[in-house]
Amino acid sequence: MLTVSHLSAGYGKLTVLHEIDVTIPAGQFTAILGPNGSGKSTLLKTIFGLTDRFGGDIMLEGQALIGLATEQISRQGIAYIPQRQNVFAAMTVRENLLLALRHLNRTQAETAIAEATALFPILGQRAQQRAGKLSGGERQMLAIAIGWLSRPRLMLLDEPSAGLSPLFVTEVFRTLRQLCQTGITLAVVEQNARSVLRWCDYAYVLREGQVAFQGTAAEILADEETVKGYLGVGRIS
Ligand code: ADP
Ligand code: MG
Repeated sequence: MLTVSHLSAGYGKLTVLHEIDVTIPAGQFTAILGPNGSGKSTLLKTIFGLTDRFGGDIMLEGQALIGLATEQISRQGIAYIPQRQNVFAAMTVRENLLLALRHLNRTQAETAIAEATALFPILGQRAQQRAGKLSGGERQMLAIAIGWLSRPRLMLLDEPSAGLSPLFVTEVFRTLRQLCQTGITLAVVEQNARSVLRWCDYAYVLREGQVAFQGTAAEILADEETVKGYLGVGRIS
């Protein structure tokens, strides 16, 4: 679905990604792992047109995304859920959802909200609560729901499990897996490597802006160097 080839990108004079190749296959859950500062967020931001690209290509089902503005990229069916500031804290859950649906008429918006609360039941329960008062996990569900409401083909998520209790980490990944089963393709950046490896189809491990390793969860866990150097020995989270 999405092919990143020989991509170099960064910020101003700083090159963060060095000629990287990443394939996000349609209908799959692809994880992007790697230590802090390895360029994971930069990769998602570059796909969404938010950084400076110095070389290489990004193709969405054969169509070039390079050169498109973020709004145009979003119209191609890509939703980006950043790690922070992904909901409006002062607004209620319902207001956040309605804002994401402002292009629809009232009936269409209510239908979409009903669908969203079927997929994310906690949002129905918290409809009148201010987003700023939600727990970390609930807030993450809201951010994911808002992204989902744009009916994307591909969702880019930056550390959706960051700071969540283990129970909610599982809940978030279970929800993402469910979205994937409805045909949405996922690219998920994660620090929580061991957890996401239980849910993803395939993973890339970045190091210093390059792909250090790639494979299925089983292949990654079988690679001693990656496990020792990055996943940590015996650290289950
Ligand atoms: P990760 O998400 O893997 O932790 P990032 O992609 O956020 O890594 O960052 C990779 C590198 O890019 C880091 O050295 C970071 O300091 C730098 N960086 C990130 N965002 C910016 C920015 N907005 N401006 C300049 N440098 C940045
Ligand atoms: Mg990051």
